[in-house]
Parts: sequence; C-alpha cells; structure tokens
Amino acid sequence: MTDWEKEALKRQENLLEDLQQLIAIPSVLDENAVTKDLPFGPEPKRALDWLLEEGRKAEMSVKNVDNMAGHIEMGNGDDIIGILCHVDVVPAGSNWTYGPYDGTIVDGKLFGRGAIDDKGPTIAAWHAMKLVKESGITLNKRVRLIIGTDEESGFRCVKRYFEKEEMPQIGFAPDADFPIINAEKGIASVLFKQKSIGADGQLLWFKSGNRTNMVPDYAEAHIAKEVGIDNDQFTTFLNIHNVTGGVTKEKDYTVINLNGKSAHAMEPDNGVNAAVLLASFLNRIFQEGTSKDFTQFMFNAFANESRGLFLGLAFNDEMSGDTTLNAGIVTYDQENSGEITISMRYSVSYQFEEKMTTCMERLTETPFSVDVLSNSAPHYVDAADPLIRTLQEVYTDHTGEHAELLSIGGGTYARVLEKGVAFGMLFPGREDVAHQADEYVYIDDLMKATAIYADAISRLACDETEGE
Ligand SMILES: [Zn+2]
Repeated sequence: MTDWEKEALKRQENLLEDLQQLIAIPSVLDENAVTKDLPFGPEPKRALDWLLEEGRKAEMSVKNVDNMAGHIEMGNGDDIIGILCHVDVVPAGSNWTYGPYDGTIVDGKLFGRGAIDDKGPTIAAWHAMKLVKESGITLNKRVRLIIGTDEESGFRCVKRYFEKEEMPQIGFAPDADFPIINAEKGIASVLFKQKSIGADGQLLWFKSGNRTNMVPDYAEAHIAKEVGIDNDQFTTFLNIHNVTGGVTKEKDYTVINLNGKSAHAMEPDNGVNAAVLLASFLNRIFQEGTSKDFTQFMFNAFANESRGLFLGLAFNDEMSGDTTLNAGIVTYDQENSGEITISMRYSVSYQFEEKMTTCMERLTETPFSVDVLSNSAPHYVDAADPLIRTLQEVYTDHTGEHAELLSIGGGTYARVLEKGVAFGMLFPGREDVAHQADEYVYIDDLMKATAIYADAISRLACDETEGE
C-alpha cells in the first residue's frame, strides 16, 4: 500500500510553487475584453493554458475545448472518472493584507485569490493525479481532470465542454466541503403576482430586496397620508420582533421602513425578512382593497414560516430535509400591484409539477397567481452507491473521522456531473473564506487533500469489482 501522505509531503515545495504560479494569474472574467478566442477575456484562458501545459509536461493527454474549458487525462479504459475543478476566480476586491495574486505564505497558510476557491483544490487534485501516475499503479479507467474557466459567472465553460466531450460515469468536484455533499436541493425561482391591477391608493409603493437568493434586510413602503399610522404601535411591533425601523412624513405620503437581517436563501430562518415583517405590520392597518389583499397574502404565505405550508408547497425527505421558500424580491406599485419573487429550495424527492399544481389550485380563490420563472433540478447520488462508499472509506482512512454525507440547499459545481459529488476540500471546522479578502488555504489541509485525492483516484480507477 502506498503511503499517500508521505508521497504528497515529498512534493510539498513543488506543489506550493505551482499554486503560487496559478494564483499569480488574475483569472477574472473580463466582459470588455471578450473576443472569439478569448470567450471570458485573456486571463481565464491564460490560467487554462498554464495548467494544460503542466499536463503536457507530465506526458498526459490534454485537450482545450474552445478556450472555455479543457482536460488532462491519464489511464486507459472505457470508463472515465471525472474530477471537476475551475481556474477562474472572482475579483480580488479591496482590504487585503497580502497581495491577492502573490501567494504569500504566513503561519502555515497560503494567501491569495483562489487559494480555497478553487485554485488550491485544483492543484491538490492535479498533483494527486501525478502521484498516482508516478506510483506506477495500473489504471483500468481513464482519469480526467476537467478544468472550467467560467464557474464563477454562469458555468458556460462546462456547458460547452459537455456539448463536445463525454460525460464521466462517476466523478467528484473538489470545490466545496469535506466530507461529501451528495444531496443538493432543486432551485426554482417562482413569481406570485396580484391578479387585480390598478391599486386602491392606500399603499402607494412597496420595495424590498434585489436578489431572490438572499433574505431581504430592508423594506420600505409609501402610504397615502390619509391612512393613519400609529407610531407607538409600530415601535412596539419593532421591539417585539427585535428589529429597527421608522416613520417619516413626506409632503404627499408617509414613508415607513424596517431593517431585518440578511441570510442566504438556503435557510431563510437564519435571517429576518424585512419585507415579510413590514407587510405583516401594514396588514393590521389596511382593512380592504388591493392594499389589504397584498399584505394579507404576504402575511398568510410567509409570516411565521418559510416552509410553504399555506401555499401547499411544503415537503421534506430524509436525504435533504425541508423545502424552503425565501421571499427575496417584493414590490408593489399603483400599476402592477403586488409581485413577490421567491427562491424555492426543494427537497431531492420533491414532485415539482404536482406541487405547483396544488399551489395553483389553492390560489384560484385568492387575488394571486403563480408562475415558475426558472427551475434547476435537484442533484443526488444514493448513499449506497459504490462511489460514495469508496470516498467515505478514503476519507475515514486519512482523517480517522466518520465521513458524514451532507445535504445542502445551494448548488455546487458537482451538479454538472451526471453522477458526481462535492468532495472537499474545505475540512469541517475550517472557516469558509472563499470570495473574501485575505482568502487563504492551510498548507497542511492542501497536503492532506492531495493524499486523499490520490488515494481516491487510485481506488476508483483500479476498481476490481467492476462488472460485478
Ligand atoms: Zn468554486
């Protein structure tokens, strides 16, 4: 048995130099510099070229797919094990202690944009492939490092790649968390729209949120000045809910606002939805008309719960937990009345069409209609699948920890693969610094992950139980 940890450590210096070279390329999407040959601007392509050249130097077969993606491949066989990674990064932003493209090493950490997302994990997986090749193990499958250059802004890289290249039979993406994420909920964007247009002149305007995937932390409404608002009642309401807000009189109307707390849509209960709270308060004030219809619907559908009970959308399963609803963008104006766009994260065994039909039926008697704006199916690999079993064994052998299977409400890069899971490389308990200033990776983690990936590749690619 190869001691992968020992083999990985032997090449630590070389691996860190490679990571520094890759981090030095500021591979951020540049829409202004897009040409036919540079689909995402010059730097993402430079990062791809650099890694493909490393593949050539290691005498593996490489392929560039339209300067959008590429692969480095080793081994023989009909089947492919895909390792999906990306070399593009989000912009550096400001407030860095160390240069974002310098790869500075301090206190056992390597700092730089992409250190943990996803250049560090990419280099770990790449060196893992080299370790396996050099070990001389005979592989009866092909192992393919698939390199995207547009993960951060729309996955156009892998969309193009899989239009032209084979889909691996199994794979993993080192672009999220250890141990293993095998369940990713479906993500749908759904619009609830008020049927009666032409508002009643009480609520003049309401606006909260810019993105469906965040809990809105601010809401503001303009109310006709004839409508009385009891300041004390509002203050009491704010205190009860432990939030802040205020009322100001303008010449022709009253402005009322409320500050909630932002959170990611994958668990709306971690935040305080400003739109829902403000509408709930206004619901006490309005007695009738389109204004009341709007606030009553907001209250019924979203106050006190984020699971879609009122709308008939609620569902949960053991693999992935509750379906969640986040009212992310809420507007009301005199022309269109109310519109609520939600991000729905639905459980992996959700009967989507059936549930939407139920929701539509429930809404027939209400002043609101429902429309699905977009829908990305859930991603799930069965816990009993040999891919999962093997990765769990590898993880436990190298960490001594049980390899718990994780389910998330967000989407990872792994959902691009037909049968793939997210596998690292952020270890449990490590702070997630992706996309932040002073992004870093622990060098020990990098080396441990390299050993884990090498072991995983060797076990998956010389699978002797194949065909059983
Ligand atoms: Zn990433």
